[in-house]
Amino acid sequence: MVLPKLHVRDIPDAGLDLEVSLDASWLRKAFEDSTVEPATDPAGTLMLRLDLSGDDVIFNVRGKAAVTFQCVRCLEPLAGELYCVTSLLLEPAGSAKHRAHDSEAEVELTAEDLDRDTFENGIIDVGHWVREQLLVEIPPHPKHANCEAPRWSDAEKTRSTSPFAVLEKFKNKE
Ligand SMILES: [Zn+2]
Repeated sequence: MVLPKLHVRDIPDAGLDLEVSLDASWLRKAFEDSTVEPATDPAGTLMLRLDLSGDDVIFNVRGKAAVTFQCVRCLEPLAGELYCVTSLLLEPAGSAKHRAHDSEAEVELTAEDLDRDTFENGIIDVGHWVREQLLVEIPPHPKHANCEAPRWSDAEKTRSTSPFAVLEKFKNKE
C-alpha cells in the first residue's frame, strides 16, 4: 500500500484524522538509496491530522518506523527507530498569498512557527512529506553501543606498525 494522496476538498472543516500504516514495501522504496531496511511489516503506524486554514493546510504527523541501520563499524544490522513527528504549513503552490505572507512574516507568528511547504493542484501527497521527515532522522553514523568488531582500533593498530616501521628504517640508514 502506498501512502494516500488527499485532495484538499476531502478535508472537512472539522479537520481530518487518519491512521496509516508504513508498509515495509513502501519504506524499502523510500529508502532505496540508503542501507536502512524496514524491521517489521508494517514498519510502523502514523497518525495524521489535517486541518484547513483558509487555502492552506496544516499537516500534522506523529509516529515511528521500526528499521535496521547498518553499523558503520562491523557493517552488521543495527535495530533502530525513525520518528516521524512534524507539523507543516502547506500552501497552494504559486499563490499570491504565499508571497504576501513572507513580507509580513512578523505579523503571522503562529504560522511562522511551522515549517512551510507548498502543494500543487490541490493534492496533499502524504508519502512525500513522510519520506522527507524520515530521511532527516537517519543517523549519519549508526553504530552498536558495544560493537564487537571495532574497525577503527584495528585500523589504528595496522597504521602504528606499518608506516612508522618504514620511517624507522629510514632513520637508521641516515
Ligand atoms: Zn557494530
